Formats: sequence, structure tokens, C-alpha cells
Amino acid sequence: MSSHSRVESQHSWINVLWQTGDNTTPAPKDPHPETLYRPDILQTIEEAIYGLRDGLVALSLEIHAHPELGFEEHYAHAAYTKFMKKYGWHVREHHLLDTAWEATFEHGQRGRVIGVNSEMDALKGIGHACGHNLIGIAGVAISLGLRAAMEKYDIPGKIILLGTPAEEGLDGKVVLLEKGAYKGMDVCLMCHPAPGPLGSVNLGSSLARQRITVEYKGHAAHAALSPWEGKNALDAVVLAYNNISALRQQLKPTHRVHGIIEGTDWEAYTIPENAKLVTYVRAPTRTELQETVKRVLRCFHAASLATGCQIDIDIFGQTYDLRQNQALGDEVSRIMLNKYGSIDYEWGINSASTDFGTVTYNLPALHPSFSIPTIPNGGNHTRQFTEAAATTQAHEQCLVASIALAGTGLRVLTDDDFYAEVSLLAFNPARLQKVPKRVTLI
Ligand SMILES: [Zn+2]
Ligand SMILES: [Zn+2]
Repeated sequence: MSSHSRVESQHSWINVLWQTGDNTTPAPKDPHPETLYRPDILQTIEEAIYGLRDGLVALSLEIHAHPELGFEEHYAHAAYTKFMKKYGWHVREHHLLDTAWEATFEHGQRGRVIGVNSEMDALKGIGHACGHNLIGIAGVAISLGLRAAMEKYDIPGKIILLGTPAEEGLDGKVVLLEKGAYKGMDVCLMCHPAPGPLGSVNLGSSLARQRITVEYKGHAAHAALSPWEGKNALDAVVLAYNNISALRQQLKPTHRVHGIIEGTDWEAYTIPENAKLVTYVRAPTRTELQETVKRVLRCFHAASLATGCQIDIDIFGQTYDLRQNQALGDEVSRIMLNKYGSIDYEWGINSASTDFGTVTYNLPALHPSFSIPTIPNGGNHTRQFTEAAATTQAHEQCLVASIALAGTGLRVLTDDDFYAEVSLLAFNPARLQKVPKRVTLI
């Protein structure tokens, strides 16, 4: 690409981005009301969710003002469980994990079971920079919207709302899946904020991810008096980091390898005897991920050989790519295009990863992203996105995504043919893999 066309593409990228300060109200992109399933029930869901707006926004801002790291979401646990109890839900505190929780509602008998997820954790130093405060209230909104429709139209079914800890790097949902938290759910729904076009919901996938920690053990020495006596673990980790930088040129643009260097008791006057590299490897599919991991491991071993440092590799924390259930996605798409905005496949969390990806391999599930306005280069995991996640527009879009997902859940409860399609599309051996345990690739 020439530098001229690169500038043009940068401009078009910025033009498409819904930016802070643009107060345009999103409009439905392709209204064909005759394609909507039960607009009367959808209306009930919309009224119920908008009727709860003030309480939901207050709850979100409360969580936003009290950011907590993964598995430490005690404030959020208390706030969400109190909220759900207030609405009469059956609540299990500290459900399977200390900061996980479950709120259930059942109406009638022999109905299908809709699972919903509310994330809670924030990022070190920069608060709710992934907008999980919005994901949390989306789960609550979807559940309460569904309940309103089930009661008004006497629709049998059950809702299981799970408060899921530690999405950021610690894979809370994979742990909950292993512990059986998703058992009994017929489908599972959640959503996530991201930058994107005005009023858009993204139905794209996300990357499979493997976390690898490599530790080098060398030998300390006086850095001036007798450096030849040392084996430099810092050199080893720097070489490993640079090997990965060289490898990156030969990786597809869809792949990601990134990490940070850590060390203890480092001082400039001593040859460091320890160093650690925490690395994430990501690729669009699990097969491509495993191929890339093998190449990254060679980068680590080369650094060990060059420096004579011992190497210790720990491969843990795998999450799968997101397998969006197409029937569920089509229903969200119908609702969005008819009533609220547009659909895209380019933005969202496409190049990131989520522990919900592993959930989508185990049951029919959907994890759309919804756009919220932010500034250029102010996407997820930036301080600017933390600000974006607290705005009025972000909350409005969160409620819109919640209505679309609740409407989709409602159809699962009431339309046998639709549910048959949902389960048929999920019944694909590639999607029914076991929950990943520790993987050994060396
Ligand atoms: Zn994140
Ligand atoms: Zn996130």
C-alpha cells in the first residue's frame, strides 16, 4: 500500500468510527417490520428495559466508580446480587467461585432455559477500560426484559443469569464451565462494548488465545568485576522478545503475539539471574493457534541456547475463538436493522479474545459487540475507553443491545422451529469440543 493510500484508509477508518461528541441518534438501517417475530412481545421487552433505565445506569456507574481486578470483584458481587434480590430473583451468592453469582427466575413448567452472562472485572491502573460495567447491566437488562415478557404473555421458561468473574486474562468462564455453571442452559447470551460505526452491533468472531509464561534462570555476578561468571537472564528474555518481533513479520496479519517482561530484585550493578516473559498468542482458529504457538516456543528456546540460561515454560490459559450461533445472530440482526441501527462484521472485538469463546463450543451461544462513541485510538484497554464506558450514549447502546438479545432469547422460548434451527446449527462436532485443560505442545 502506498503512503498516500495508507493515509486515505486511515481517514476512512476515522470517518466510520462513531466518535465522542457525535450526538446523532442511530436510525434503523433496513426496516422491514413484516420480518419481525412477535413485535408485540418485543415492545413489552423494550418498555420493560427502558422502564428500568435509571436504576440500570446508576448500577453501571456505581460499578464503574469501583473498579476491581479479576477474582476480586467483591463490590460488584454485592451490588449485583442486591439488585437482583430487590427484583425478587432467587440469588446464589459466591456461586462456585468466591465472586461469581447466579440469579434465577422460572415461570411455568417445562420451558427452555436461557443463560445470560454479566462480566464484572476491570483493568489494572485504568479502571473499566473494557466497559465490563456495561456488560454487567446488559446481563441484568436482558434477564429483566425477558422476565417481563414471560409474565405478561405467560411464557414458560427459566432464566439463569451468571455473574462471571475474571474475564481479563484469567478465564473465569472456563473455570465456571468446568465447574458445571452452564449445565442446563439451552442457549447463552451476552454482549460487549467496543469502538465501531454509529449504532452498530457486531456479529463477527474473535481470536483463539493461548497464554504462555516463560522463565529464564541464569547466574548472578558482579556486572563490572566479574560479568564472565554470570548467565544473564535479562539478556535471554530480551532475545526471546526480539525473536518474536522478527517472527511477527512472517505471521499473518490476523495473528497476534504480545507480552511483557518481568523480573525480581533487578539492579544495574548485578547480572540478573531471573527474568520472565508473559506472552499471549492469538489466531483466528485453534489449529492456527497451535501452529503459531510452536513457532513462538522456538523463539524462547533459541534465547535459552544463546545465553546458557535454564528455561521453564508454562502453557496454560487457553480460550477458543468465538463461534457465534448463526440463527441467534440472524435474530439479533433482524431486530437491530428493523428498529435500532445496523450490523457489521469488521469492528467489535474481532481481533481480541474472550473466555466466552470456550462457552460457544459447548452450547448454542451469541456474544455480539455493540459500538459506543469514543475517540480515535481510544479503544478497549485505554483510559479514553474508560471514559467512553460511562457516557449516556454508551448506556443507551447497551440497552439497545440488551433489547435485541432479550428479543432473541424470547424467540428461543416460544418458537420451536427457531430453536430447532439454533440447536441444529450448534450441532457440529467442531463446536462440541471438550473444555480445554492444560495443553502440552512441546
Ligand atoms: Zn478487555
Ligand atoms: Zn472485555
